[in-house]
Amino acid sequence: MKTALITGGTKGIGKGIARVLLESGYEVAINYDRDEQAALETQREFNMSGYCPVLLKADVSSEADVKAMFREFFDTFDRLDLLVNNAGIALVKLMQDTTLDEYERLFGVNMRGTFLCSKLAVPHMVHAGQGCIVNIASIWGEVGASCETLYSATKGAVIAFTQGLSKELAPSNIRVNCVSPGVIDTDMNSDLTPTEMEDLIQSVPLGRIGQPEDVGQAVLYLAEAEYVTGVNIPVGGGFAK
Ligand code: NAD
Repeated sequence: MKTALITGGTKGIGKGIARVLLESGYEVAINYDRDEQAALETQREFNMSGYCPVLLKADVSSEADVKAMFREFFDTFDRLDLLVNNAGIALVKLMQDTTLDEYERLFGVNMRGTFLCSKLAVPHMVHAGQGCIVNIASIWGEVGASCETLYSATKGAVIAFTQGLSKELAPSNIRVNCVSPGVIDTDMNSDLTPTEMEDLIQSVPLGRIGQPEDVGQAVLYLAEAEYVTGVNIPVGGGFAK
């Protein structure tokens, strides 16, 4: 059975990805960083549907945590077919008001976390002669968002990282792709006012906000599409700004 490790997978998009992969027969490890209660609740919810995901605690921006997480993963599973670098944080703020600490934290989780987890996964995939990495970027990483300049920059970095790594690892039969969600119904957008949300939905040609499982479907496609590498799939209902 194929295995997947999803970072930041106990809620929002990560949980939607976990659901799609579990329903498709993957054995899944779900990483979480702090909220053990929420993680256990998510695990219980999946258990009630007949699935048994494993929980792995780690702050993806910490090298020590990520190393421990991979040790624990390989204590449980003997293969890693799919790494989904989903854990991420956002910041809505003018660039000139953003502190260096906030900058470090944003890049720490969104880019450094993607780097650290990929770095630890790749040797196992090279050894296995196959593997797949899917990074969750953002449409803002392609076109930039006002008041989310630093967030956009982290996601632009994730897209470039994906493209470079896809070329580096293709000879090892490891595929690296990313998914760029548009507006998805998660806590990350909970600060938006109903008017702001309505405005955003108006600019989505498909006329609705995306669901976490919509992103999950794109991840599943990339996990299974054996001749696809180095691409960035927008999942935004046609949203383009
Ligand atoms: P969310 O806030 O609901 O979930 C983010 C997850 O990441 C949480 O489980 C959180 O615990 C985890 N996380 C945060 N910091 C972590 C760390 N240091 N170590 C491990 N886990 C950590 O947000 P979401 O909307 O589900 O976002 C998931 C991904 O999708 C993020 O990378 C985000 O940037 C991206 N994204 C979201 C949207 C959207 O509209 N929701 C759009 C584009 C991209």
